[in-house]
Amino acid sequence: MENISQTEILINEVSESYPEKETLVKLLSLDGKEAADVLFKEAYAAKGKYVGKKVYFRGLIEFSNICEKNCYYCGIRRDNKQAHRYQMTEEEAVEAGLWAYESKYGSIVLQAGERTDRAHIDRVERIVQKLMEKSEGKLGITLSLGEQSKETYARWFKAGAKRYLLRIETSSKELYKQLHPPDHVFEERLRCLYDLKDLGYQSGTGVMIGLPGQTAAHLADDLLFFKEYNVDMIGMGPYLQHNQTPLATAFDDFETVKIRNFELTLKMIALARIMLKDVNIAATTAMQAIKPFGREAALLAGANVMMPNITEKKYRGDYKLYENKPCSDEDYDECASCLEGRIKAIGETVGYGEHGDPLHYFRRRG
Ligand code: SF4
Repeated sequence: MENISQTEILINEVSESYPEKETLVKLLSLDGKEAADVLFKEAYAAKGKYVGKKVYFRGLIEFSNICEKNCYYCGIRRDNKQAHRYQMTEEEAVEAGLWAYESKYGSIVLQAGERTDRAHIDRVERIVQKLMEKSEGKLGITLSLGEQSKETYARWFKAGAKRYLLRIETSSKELYKQLHPPDHVFEERLRCLYDLKDLGYQSGTGVMIGLPGQTAAHLADDLLFFKEYNVDMIGMGPYLQHNQTPLATAFDDFETVKIRNFELTLKMIALARIMLKDVNIAATTAMQAIKPFGREAALLAGANVMMPNITEKKYRGDYKLYENKPCSDEDYDECASCLEGRIKAIGETVGYGEHGDPLHYFRRRG
């Protein structure tokens, strides 16, 4: 009981003020189901109060797994010669986006490995323009295409994309260095994040949880970074191993680590909701890769966005940032009705036909 009331005091501190790092570390280190449940319950109440119990779909189109980068944790990194590379045609990408629009998803996410060449930049611009034209400007478009110049971000914004997701992966410069080759520069990632905001994008970031070398103190700093950056959208997922990466042998018993990462991710979602209140938070597919009802657990811990994968089935299996990615074989329709059923089962509804823009974006812009 003592433990529960102490937890409530700490949660109150996170909710009411700019929390101390130490408070966040204590909450991330909560031991025992009872105390963690208090945290999830408070986060769910905050979700109901600030963003409601509606889940917004973003149709996820993974239109290419070709990447210039070489992040040590990623299955589609440049040096993974075993990865089968693909690129959807412009027509296929537009068709998938329009399917989402006609199915009343409200918005989509165009995601791909990072490329900064002219052909890629032009292609993305054309896809966004066509989708805006064919949906009469009504489809919400989010991009998740990595680090780009400010000029490129501006072109894509002008074409019609209004949201951008760029995970910082970790807000610790030292840890970032350990997880990336020397030519991946932390300051450049920050430059991109601030350029996106400056251009008027609804800006999203996030971190991986349970990375080798990562501590509760790092994660507490990540939450404080979200607050400082004044983020609109958050996408966080548990770190999952891929056998064809340099980090494949970082943990001896990954099955146990995986469960720990899952629980930590739920706590991060809950704390982000309590701290940041009106932001959008994704229930990522990586949660379901660990537990069959992982995404529902994320919704009950404060998340309010889901990203059904609408990439054509023939490509989907090749976009493997981590192994055992779920939902690789379902058709679009199966995927949507399965998710709707899961959402209804926890007493929530789907915001069909709505953009589901992060309320925080409008509040911070006044
Ligand atoms: S994490 Fe992103 S940028 Fe890094 S290798 Fe994977 S797809 Fe490329």
